[in-house]
Amino acid sequence: MISLESRYQEVLDRVNAATKASGRELTEVELVVITKTHPASVVAELMDLGHRVFGENKDQEAKPKALAVAELRPESKASWHFVGQLQSNKAKSVLSYATAIHSLDRASLLKELAKQLSAADSQVSGFIELNLTDDPNRGGVAPESLAMLADKAAEVDGLSILGVMAVAGLDVDPRVDFARAMRASAELQKLLPTATAVSMGMSADYELAIEMGATHVRVGSAITGPRGNN
Ligand SMILES: *Cc1c(COP(=O)(O)O)cnc(C)c1O
Repeated sequence: MISLESRYQEVLDRVNAATKASGRELTEVELVVITKTHPASVVAELMDLGHRVFGENKDQEAKPKALAVAELRPESKASWHFVGQLQSNKAKSVLSYATAIHSLDRASLLKELAKQLSAADSQVSGFIELNLTDDPNRGGVAPESLAMLADKAAEVDGLSILGVMAVAGLDVDPRVDFARAMRASAELQKLLPTATAVSMGMSADYELAIEMGATHVRVGSAITGPRGNN
């Protein structure tokens, strides 16, 4: 059986190789290990291998897991990225453990974050999520509406916009969607020159995403192994 350690090491090696091949420094690409459906003990094991940055997509699972991990490994701090669709009524809870939110996709969510950030006098990093499909029920903002949402996001005290996030569509060549995300990123940087980050690429396509400009890859099953329905 292939161990968690060897899967993690292989992904790390591939991330580093793809980063070098694209002419960038290793520090320019962040591997966010997505641990959804896996227990806190898996996160603790990855922390023992030196990893610190993890992602989750559901608050009801992420919050207790973040607390459990802090108890299992009190001497080293994990940082949590929230990558799933975020309901406004969960914003306060997510802010209690997450350092970054990859799924900013609408004005009402920004409004709630503004309220909660100001009440707690706290800070969070954010990515504006793009919806590259024709399905409005998928998370994310249409590329045409990116500028409007970015303007609103820039006004939220305590929210620092790092860049854009995209999930490649299931039935398209990821190159097409990654290229669209990179164009949207260039548009965003006209408004917010420091918002240079691009969160794209998952287990099936993270090397391609890095070649095309990703600064954050969200890799789950290639490291943690298969998961049940989620
Ligand atoms: C689950 C998930 C991932 C990781 O998917 P894998 O294919 O397991 O690597 C990345 N991003 C988001 C938003 C996810 O929900």
